Parts: sequence; C-alpha cells; structure tokens
Amino acid sequence: MIVIRLLNSFFLVPKFHLPLKKIFKKTDMSNKVITLHYNLFKDNEAGEAIESSTGKNPLTFLSGVGQMIPDFENNVVNLKAGESFSFGIAALDAYGEPTDEAIVELDIEMFKKDGELMEEIALGSMIPLQDQEGRMVPAKVLAINETSVTMDVNHPLAGQNLHFTGEIVEVRDATDEEISHGHVHGPGGHQH
Ligand SMILES: [Zn+2]
Repeated sequence: MIVIRLLNSFFLVPKFHLPLKKIFKKTDMSNKVITLHYNLFKDNEAGEAIESSTGKNPLTFLSGVGQMIPDFENNVVNLKAGESFSFGIAALDAYGEPTDEAIVELDIEMFKKDGELMEEIALGSMIPLQDQEGRMVPAKVLAINETSVTMDVNHPLAGQNLHFTGEIVEVRDATDEEISHGHVHGPGGHQH
C-alpha cells in the first residue's frame, strides 16, 4: 500500500513471479475515491516517523478493492472532507510478521544488463521487484553468488505496529469504470 509510493523513483527489474506476497483481502466496503494527507509512525503518535504526505501530493485511492490495509480503509471510509483521523493498526492486521518463506533465491541473470550485474544489486540494497500483478514489492539483497541473488521480500514494515494520523481532503463515489478497472482515474490515479 502506501509504502509502495516511496519506490516510484527506484528502477524496475523485469517482471517475474514472486512466490510470496502480502495481498490485502477485498473488503465489502463501498467503492469511494478517497484523497487524504497522512503521517505514518511506528507504534504510536509519539513514535518514529516512517512516512508522510505533508508537502507532497495527497494520497488518492479506491476503497473496497484491496489496495489498502483493510483496517486503514475501515478508519477513513466514513469520514468527510476536512475531518482528521488518528488510529493504530497492530502488525498482524497490517503487514503481518516476517516469515522465512519470504526469503527467495532468484536467478542472477534476471539482474544482469549486457552481461554485467546491475550496480544497484549490492548487499543490503533495497530493490523494488514487480510481481505478477504489476505491484511493486520492495526486496532487500541478502546474498549474492555466481548464480543467484538471495532477497528478503518480507515487507519492510512486517512485524511493525503502525499509527496513522491525517486529514481527509476529498471523498467522492467511484465511477462504474473505476470500479471495473479496480483503480482511480483522473488526478492522483490512472490517466488513460
Ligand atoms: Zn482504468
């Protein structure tokens, strides 16, 4: 969800099938297009700041299609423009706990360009991988050998309790087209 927006400036590796990924369940919530500013902290409002939309474009998303953490949607879906929010989400209801299954060994050829390993592939680097559904998944490089690169695709916030504060900028009903596409059209969304 939100953290993926941080990766817009990263480079892309070729599409491949990720063995494990956190997919949020679709909710039975109404389909609204919600635009909001948010601040994300570790544990509580006094915790370390992880991310914020302050000074940037607000976040726009379509509710009810599994784009966001369900508890995040639950807490903002009934708010009106101008209303503020502050709520916590336990790790298990957010990105879950880290698992060993999310440590994956990938063919090194996937990360070569003109026969050379891309310079971004270095121990400890965070690499955005694109999954089979076109979503970006951040991966940490754990090991590199002659034939493979081992990556940790646990979400960087796995195991972390989260706290969000912020304010609703705009709320509108989604169009039928947006609902059938599963994403927002227009400002803050797809332009097609
Ligand atoms: Zn569309």
